[in-house]
Amino acid sequence: MKKRIVSAERVSDASGRQYHLGVAPGEVAPRILLCGDPKRAERTAALFEALRCERRNREYVTFTGKYKGLELSVVGTGIGPDNIEIAVVELSQVAKDPTFIRIGSCGALRKGLRLGDLVVSTGAVRLENTSTYFVPEGYPAVANYEVVVALLSAAAGLGRQAHAGLTATAPGFYGAQSRRVPGFEPRHPDLPASLAKLGVLNLEMEVSALLTLASVGGFRAGAICAVYAQRAENRFISPREKEEAELDCIRAGLGAFERLEHMDQWKRQYRKDYWHV
Ligand code: URA
Repeated sequence: MKKRIVSAERVSDASGRQYHLGVAPGEVAPRILLCGDPKRAERTAALFEALRCERRNREYVTFTGKYKGLELSVVGTGIGPDNIEIAVVELSQVAKDPTFIRIGSCGALRKGLRLGDLVVSTGAVRLENTSTYFVPEGYPAVANYEVVVALLSAAAGLGRQAHAGLTATAPGFYGAQSRRVPGFEPRHPDLPASLAKLGVLNLEMEVSALLTLASVGGFRAGAICAVYAQRAENRFISPREKEEAELDCIRAGLGAFERLEHMDQWKRQYRKDYWHV
């Protein structure tokens, strides 16, 4: 039987510059921090000691530079699973063997988590449907264990409470996260409480799409989110607390890449495929 040749869909110019992010091969480091807010990406890039590339296209901003001697990129993707899908697909075309860490924000579902705490996702409930266009229903969205360990270790040094566990990823902020806003009653008002009963720690808008795509693409990914809303107590973070928690979330992401570098050096030294204690 004749083999059907399926060519890749073209979404870049001849140099490989990607359509939405505007980045070309060589402009993005293999270590990539992702956040929704472009201002958080700028704040992260301000901590780089050298900046060698800055790209802005549509809602996407990309900075590449060095942090403590390591080549790193930070990308502001805009909000939501569809935005992070575009970012991850395009970035993985221009960066070799990438590792992605999302430095995000979230709402806490369980009592005991406080505003400003950090949550490291071990996996995510796929309430969004962007990932269903790649994988079937039962496919898990799991974080890479090396990234989870690196994030927890980095967060431990910050003096801020960190938690590890399940995240749920919603396709919206209001209805999809059951927020009651006058004139826009959510269809599933009990969603946060029922997820909390199932042991889910937090609710946000990108993690499950990122983790699913990472498994499909064969690369490492993980996520850490600062708690901006406490849904069980109907509380929202103050602007001052938000600034401080965001900075610690950024620091945890940067610190995780330092730790991953040590793990990777260990693997090379001992010719291991997997890091272990
Ligand atoms: N981001 C979300 O998606 N939800 C929250 O409650 C807070 C931040």
